[in-house]
Amino acid sequence: MSPFKRARLSVFGLCFFGLLAGGLARGASPAAAATAAERADTLLAQMTVEEKIGQLVLFSGYGTTTGPLPAQQGLEDHIRKGECGNVFNVMSVAQIRKLQKIAVEETRRHIPLLFGYDVIHGYKTIFPICLGEAASWNPPLIENSAHVAAREGAAAGLDWTFAPMVDIARDPRWGRISEGAGEDPFLGSVIARARVRGIQGTNLAATDTLLACVKHYAAYGAVQAGRDYNTVDLSERTLREVYLPPYRAAIEAGALSVMASFNELNGTPATANSFLLQHILRDEWGFTGFVVTDYTAINEMVAHGSAVDEAEAARQALSAGVDMDMQGGTYLDHLQQLLAAGKVTEHQIDVAARRVLTIKFKLGLFDNPYRHCDAQREQQTLYAEENLAAARRMAGESFVLLKNSAQTLPLKTGAQIAVIGPLADSQRDLLGSWKGEGDWDSIATVLTAIRRENTNGSVTFARGCDLDTTNQAGFGEAMAAVQRAEVAVLVLGESWNMSGEAKSRTRLNLPGVQTGLLRELKKTGKPIIVVLMNGRPLALEEESQLADALLEVWFPGSEGGQAVADALFGRQNPSGKLPVTFPRTLGQVPIFYSAKNTGRPLDPADPHAEYKSSYFDCPNDPLYPFGFGLSYTDFTFSEVRLDHPVLKPGGKLTATVTVTNTGTRTGAEVAQLYLRDLVGSVTRPVLELKGFQKLELQPGESRAVSFTIGDNELSFLRADMTVGTEPGEFQVFIGPNSRDLRPATFELLSR
Ligand code: BGC
Repeated sequence: MSPFKRARLSVFGLCFFGLLAGGLARGASPAAAATAAERADTLLAQMTVEEKIGQLVLFSGYGTTTGPLPAQQGLEDHIRKGECGNVFNVMSVAQIRKLQKIAVEETRRHIPLLFGYDVIHGYKTIFPICLGEAASWNPPLIENSAHVAAREGAAAGLDWTFAPMVDIARDPRWGRISEGAGEDPFLGSVIARARVRGIQGTNLAATDTLLACVKHYAAYGAVQAGRDYNTVDLSERTLREVYLPPYRAAIEAGALSVMASFNELNGTPATANSFLLQHILRDEWGFTGFVVTDYTAINEMVAHGSAVDEAEAARQALSAGVDMDMQGGTYLDHLQQLLAAGKVTEHQIDVAARRVLTIKFKLGLFDNPYRHCDAQREQQTLYAEENLAAARRMAGESFVLLKNSAQTLPLKTGAQIAVIGPLADSQRDLLGSWKGEGDWDSIATVLTAIRRENTNGSVTFARGCDLDTTNQAGFGEAMAAVQRAEVAVLVLGESWNMSGEAKSRTRLNLPGVQTGLLRELKKTGKPIIVVLMNGRPLALEEESQLADALLEVWFPGSEGGQAVADALFGRQNPSGKLPVTFPRTLGQVPIFYSAKNTGRPLDPADPHAEYKSSYFDCPNDPLYPFGFGLSYTDFTFSEVRLDHPVLKPGGKLTATVTVTNTGTRTGAEVAQLYLRDLVGSVTRPVLELKGFQKLELQPGESRAVSFTIGDNELSFLRADMTVGTEPGEFQVFIGPNSRDLRPATFELLSR
């Protein structure tokens, strides 16, 4: 199929590459003055159709595979023939340089390859899983973590990461909830922007940044029943109000590639969905980058039942606006015949190839295809001390203290501690899923770190049980260890591979007999601290009663073991807040704070009233609400002060509270602003997060926190599907979580 039988460098090719490369170096040639798009056009005009199609092909490289097919056979040959312009899953400068050399020296056009990889929460230095990072409610810190990850990835030769994942997720059964920022479009958008800034920086061509890829577009988090890859059926209103904002925020922050999602949306796979890919993404949002499929998603359109065969699937995808085919080979195999048959046009191929080439120019790859291939930089950057310090700090801020009765925590050093549980001494689990190239065999577990901290006391360890079997043989040893100790630290939860892609669950309990172990150990009467590692909200009603203290640490990354010890011994005061609701039981799902009131809302003061929107066997409210998280110190919030009781359209109003640290330790609190539009042309949720500020306060310190409220905060998608405000009464709420709020009221006047 390919005309690239000769691997020799043509004279023209050499000159062409030289001109491009030299242009920027001298900074004065016509090539340097031209924009990336103009340079792409010049190049495109010289390319054959086969070469253009090659730019639309992305194949997986050696080693890791991230989907059902084995690593691409004959990859080097494809590259040599110009049939594959982009590669993923190749790690290390040495490997990347080897393939890049083939592309730039042995192909006719010498077009550099683009190297992608899933740098999701770290490349070598692994940060907490993204849901955990979101719990920090600290966008600058999240931006920094994304930047460290990008810096390491770029140092290892990569150009492109398949991140950020910004799918709103409200169903904890879905394992990929662990990869995103939780349930809320406002928080999700703030974090999406932070991650894009961290990944791409201000200069895409810098040696320490990567091209971001916003995924999975769109509404992948809304899969029915939380089963991965399942169908999504959503109203356009919910799509726009809840699911789309973070993708849009990421694009507005400058993300230049987008990954279409696996799911269908309202009957059309996202991969062939021109409403999503053309109408919204390009026409409404003005996206100028390229769109890549998810792994073999074009091929999967046959199984979806939207295309009769892969050729037709390829036609549909290209026509809908998909520029690059990840791993499926459908563009490579079918676009030429489709063109010959008049089913696609060369213009369509040109448009897609131009988008890909433009990004390659923007990345500076034509100026130096080896810009990320510096073995010395690789060696110096991976696991650099400051990267590990950033991971430890991020982990510490991601922990959410869910319970702490009688100030069980923090622990004093010198205590006799029994450390129990299947996750206490696990290295691999600390890293979570999508752990990049992170090594686990040398990292400190929670047990190791507790031993390190508690040098003047004693630490005994008993595993107690497996993570997910019915075997109770270890209960006795664990009981004995706790009986001998002053306090027990149980490290319980899910294993790393119970969340992530294709890891949906139908239960939200602790797997195996872990709760049984906790029940047993409670009988000792000793204070019990439960440290939870998990990638999704769990239903913890019983555990929350049994434990004296409950610390949610997610999967905290390479420095996670030490960060847990930092928190347990009070070196780091927990300040995380849940980015997602923790239900009492799976039967409440979907449960999220930003719900509608209904016509028969339950009055919390009369929870058993009949004929109300409620359950007869369970309260309506969750176990732990969105935004919830305690601290080792205490905070109070004053009443909300508004500077005006009324607001004119286009005007601004300030809402202020005073937050006071009434405890005895320094700590950080997140003041959260929620609004409710009481009456609208369409009904509005009872609460919508519209702002937050994280502030650190010394003991006794008070600080006024102000939020500005204007059209931005008050606008919504009105009945006629336009975005704007409507006059009427609004409630403002500020507080430490979505449940414990101080209200105030104002009126938005009509024009
Ligand atoms: C996942 C994506 C990922 C891709 C490449 C897919 O299976 O859904 O999130 O980026 O593989 O590894």
